[in-house]
Amino acid sequence: MNILVTGGAGYIGSHTCVSLLDKGHKVIIADNFYNSRKSTVKLLRQITSKEIPLYQVDVTNQSAVNKIFSEHQIDGVIHFAGYKAVGESLEVPLTYYWNNIISTLVLAKASRKYDVNRFVFSSSATVYGDNEVPFVETMNPLPTTNPYGETKAMCERILLDFSRANPKLSVALLRYFNPVGAHESGLIGEKPDGVPNNLMPYITQVVKGKLEKLKIFGNDYPTKDATGVRDYIHVVDLAEGHVSAIDHIQKGAHVYNLGTGRGTSVLELVKAFEKANGIKVPYEFVSRRPGDIAICYADASKAKREFGWTAKRDVIDMCRDAWNFENQSKSLVEYK
Ligand code: NAD
Ligand code: UDP
Repeated sequence: MNILVTGGAGYIGSHTCVSLLDKGHKVIIADNFYNSRKSTVKLLRQITSKEIPLYQVDVTNQSAVNKIFSEHQIDGVIHFAGYKAVGESLEVPLTYYWNNIISTLVLAKASRKYDVNRFVFSSSATVYGDNEVPFVETMNPLPTTNPYGETKAMCERILLDFSRANPKLSVALLRYFNPVGAHESGLIGEKPDGVPNNLMPYITQVVKGKLEKLKIFGNDYPTKDATGVRDYIHVVDLAEGHVSAIDHIQKGAHVYNLGTGRGTSVLELVKAFEKANGIKVPYEFVSRRPGDIAICYADASKAKREFGWTAKRDVIDMCRDAWNFENQSKSLVEYK
């Protein structure tokens, strides 16, 4: 299939392009490089030895998006493009609502106009709010604590209504848990600007010597070792989940968790990192981060049942590949 990947130069999008190309699909990338680099697309061509048409466009621009659909026989869309920083979304909510929702509307309209009937959307476990674990797709989403989370819930709703009105359409709403790690080549991975908000890039930067020590947010949670618990998933497993989704989605709109089904605490991740890489991670405990929940992990059985997909890589693989990427001096120069 010819798959239009919006945000294909970003962290999850780039890994998904590799997995799609590996499985014989063709990929067209649309990205405005707001949070990525053009050089990543060159690297994708290097890793896969495949041609990848690239459109440097803002996917909130309807005519620019229509042009892509008119120039390619597109079979499916995977829509990653969006803003994702929870804290920033509280400061500039309208920017988040605009980018994340308008881009989804524009792509849905183009899909309708050009009769493209497969649509995969990047949603998030954040829509579950502070539900009981494990999070199951049948649970009612709860209000999130930030505009970013609300954009995900709203886009799910929009795509659900879109599919109801268009019976030919197959929509997968993929709720990601905590993607970490990098491609085994060490050429692509996550390189946030400034001080990272997320745990794994914070750890790799501490170990690299860019930051002094990890601050563990809270050691008074009702969890196994009193630190927060998350479902970390290797980004390559997540990428492969998208290929399974695009290959197997049925008519209608369907929600799928993409997680491992296992909860790992902050301290367990630190210990796994030390074991995987033979390096100490200096840390200290500080107070809880506002808005954080104690425990979040998936019931990952639906994707297994319906797509035959499960995450194969464990936390040791995640820690090794995250460090391998951070540690490649080449990646420091060229990529975000
Ligand atoms: P990312 O920032 O690395 O990638 C997003 C890409 O979209 C970037 O390349 C950016 O330049 C591009 N982009 C943003 N707005 C655009 C626009 N209007 N037009 C064209 N390109 C645009 O983020 P990521 O971690 O790869 O996340 C991808 C998607 O998955 C996002 O929608 C995010 O909200 C969602 N998600 C991410 C996580 C996570 O932990 N990384 C968790 C759950 C959901
Ligand atoms: N965390 C931490 N120190 C950091 C960043 C995160 O202790 O510098 C903790 C955070 O409180 C949570 C877990 O690590 O329990 C995962 O946080 P992250 O921001 O990576 O993901 P999210 O909170 O969005 O699930």
